[in-house]
Amino acid sequence: MTIKTPVTIAYGDGIGPEIMTATLKILEAAGVQLAPEVIEVGEKVYLQGNTTGIPDSAWESLKRTKVLLKGPITTPQGGGYKSLNVTLRKTLSLFANVRPSVSYYPYVPAKCPNIDLVIVRENEEGTYTGIEHRHTDDVFQCLKLVTRPGCERVIHYAFEYARKHNRKKVTCMTKDNIMKMTDGLFHQVFNELAADYPDIQNEHYIIDIGAARLATQPEIFDVIVTTNLYGDILSDVAAQIAGSVGLAGSANIGNHMALFEAIHGSAPDIAGKKLANPSGLLNGAIQMLVHINQPERAALIENAWLKTLEDGLHTADIYSPERSKKKVNTDEFADAVIARLGQKPAHFKPVTYRSDVPANIECYGEYKSTTAKKELVGVDLTLDNPRLTIDELALILGKLTTRLKPVVISSRGLKVWPKSMIDAPYTQHCTCRFQSAEDVKYLTPITQETIIQVMQELTQLGMDIVKTENLYTFDGKLGFSLMQGQ
Ligand code: NAD
Repeated sequence: MTIKTPVTIAYGDGIGPEIMTATLKILEAAGVQLAPEVIEVGEKVYLQGNTTGIPDSAWESLKRTKVLLKGPITTPQGGGYKSLNVTLRKTLSLFANVRPSVSYYPYVPAKCPNIDLVIVRENEEGTYTGIEHRHTDDVFQCLKLVTRPGCERVIHYAFEYARKHNRKKVTCMTKDNIMKMTDGLFHQVFNELAADYPDIQNEHYIIDIGAARLATQPEIFDVIVTTNLYGDILSDVAAQIAGSVGLAGSANIGNHMALFEAIHGSAPDIAGKKLANPSGLLNGAIQMLVHINQPERAALIENAWLKTLEDGLHTADIYSPERSKKKVNTDEFADAVIARLGQKPAHFKPVTYRSDVPANIECYGEYKSTTAKKELVGVDLTLDNPRLTIDELALILGKLTTRLKPVVISSRGLKVWPKSMIDAPYTQHCTCRFQSAEDVKYLTPITQETIIQVMQELTQLGMDIVKTENLYTFDGKLGFSLMQGQ
């Protein structure tokens, strides 16, 4: 008796039901052995008043199956709804988002016919922690959190992935010339781990030039590892220049769970019209089959899919009168793939997946415990300041009786006091840095009580403190950035 693999299925929103139905039809025709558990997540659940978009029963299914094949989800705008995709990735600890981009030229028109790369995107942190605050009438904040274990896991994964899939090079992309601490950590961990893989080339690009090169010379890249936001943007660029966002699938990988989907969204503009290309979700499902150890079925389906592209049966998003034979709808495309099961592509190299090598790569991060000596040396207090000029504010701060003194006032990271060269352009939201001495290099440890005293005195002076950020040193090294101009 064949044992069927339990898999949780979410049809999703917009074009989700159409492309999921097409995908499952192909899987079934290929003899894939699945025991599907269907869950309801997304728009309907949000609109029933559940701001997470996922009911408890769905979590129960995921705990059982540990594998989710998911259609795209629409997150309703406004109303405080949190993105279900981000919730799933974080709750299930799916730390690596693996997005292959391949061109199917000449059958699918492509800006860059030579593209064949994989983007490994950090999937749990960075700006996608979604921690945002409003400080004043005009000022909003988004926190970018980067952890060493988070960097270690995804970068380790990228190198292991490269080794397992015979890729030659891993490129890291960050913006560490500006974000020296957060992106700087990602780059530093990349350099540390790269040393353990002498058989794989490594390099680093600043994200802006890296993105420009990706859009114009994608053939120079092999595996790219990057942070959450950059990876999200880069992978759409890569998919688009390879032909269509409708073609690419993605795997969200954790050590114990995995989620497979298309990279595109719910495409409300074409939902219900049977125009959608099911290939992105099908490619996600193929990644899932490799993951659940059905590699022969994965290859069977991928080869039939490649043959369908070669035969010129194309959905509207990739149709061109010169290269396509027939414009087909979602269901007709699925039927065309089914009709080609067992056939191999003639132009593209037929796909094989090894059954002797387990697909899973487990990466835990070393969780290096920090042995640094951490000392509290000051505080940044951010004020909602609609009335006072910077000189008036400085005068008030000078009245404080505590041993902490203001050393710098900044606005959006730019020093505006003391000795600013220009009139401060914006001072309604300003951060006052307090340390025990005026010379910031003289980092005298202070106590939490002193900070509380400063806050009490400032409040009594009528100041509105909207944010407090402690300043630490680690083994004497600054654990905070200086202000521009400081
Ligand atoms: P989108 O990817 O849904 O659509 C962008 C464009 O690509 C549209 O013109 C659309 O018609 C086209 N397109 C997308 N998939 C296609 C396919 N399979 N076949 C043919 N054409 C396709 O992006 P969007 O419009 O920015 O977002 C719509 C919704 O999807 C939003 O609510 C967004 O939050 C959500 N979204 C969900 C996911 C996910 O669930 N993983 C990812 C991205 C966006």
